[in-house]
Amino acid sequence: MLELEGKTALVFGVASEESIAWAICTQLAQAGCNLVLGYQKRFRSRVFQLQEKLPEIIGFHPVDVASDEATAEFFTEWQREDAGAKADIVIHAIGFAPAECFDRPILFAENDPISTAMTVSAHSLQRLLRHALPHLNPNSSTICLTYAASTRWVPNYGVMSIAKAALEAWTRELANHLGPEGHRINAISSGPIPTLAASGIPGFDDILEHVERNSPLRRNVTQEDVAGCALWLASPLAAGVTGQVIHVDAGYSTIMVPESISDRG
Ligand code: NAD
Repeated sequence: MLELEGKTALVFGVASEESIAWAICTQLAQAGCNLVLGYQKRFRSRVFQLQEKLPEIIGFHPVDVASDEATAEFFTEWQREDAGAKADIVIHAIGFAPAECFDRPILFAENDPISTAMTVSAHSLQRLLRHALPHLNPNSSTICLTYAASTRWVPNYGVMSIAKAALEAWTRELANHLGPEGHRINAISSGPIPTLAASGIPGFDDILEHVERNSPLRRNVTQEDVAGCALWLASPLAAGVTGQVIHVDAGYSTIMVPESISDRG
């Protein structure tokens, strides 16, 4: 039904077993996909251990999307190991903002940390796709991960909110640019999930508790919830869907005034 058997996915963003990208890898593998991972060098030993758990991982190479050269190097290495290989799916599950982005009010955040956050978390979607395009089969599907702070204010998210807004705009731009060739690009807006990236956000546990109390489903989402949506977007079941931001957030984004206000007093 999913028609993913024998497809190849390039997956960027596995750092640990808690990574959303790892849950996506697991579900894509179960659906019959081969996987090629792009990992950050500082996570090499963890990724090395993880890749042994999924025989569907047929390659893994370092990548640093902060630099165009280091991004190109991933594709050179992949093609050197597997000449002429093509991919059908690209998973962009990358986000980073230097700690300096958060250690002062946003008005005083400095240029270099802002620039790094924007490049790694948003511009990297365009950068990866530009290098990937010559190696993509027709009708490919690209999926990136965003957060609802792109459109509404969330405490302590700061520069990352702006990066996510840019990532969503890149999603629409790239979907329109590549749509005539049949390629689709979508974003999943995930609810909060405890991962390495999330652990850097002050007050994250309070956000988890708030969402559990106030979302329509009265729970937080899991990596598996997000991976399920990614699987659908990757498959021909979502052949008519592109340029979208799809919320996998237990319905939290639909709430204006939470029912819990009536619990007061
Ligand atoms: P994670 O820490 O497991 O994954 C983040 C990944 O980004 C890591 O694998 C890291 O290696 C990679 N990365 C950072 N800088 C990089 C660089 N320069 N080059 C290459 N890779 C780089 O955390 P996660 O929560 O699984 O994050 C995955 C995506 O989901 C991110 O885009 C994140 O913003 C998004 N997201 C997460 C949540 C959440 O609450 N966890 C919510 C919404 C969206």
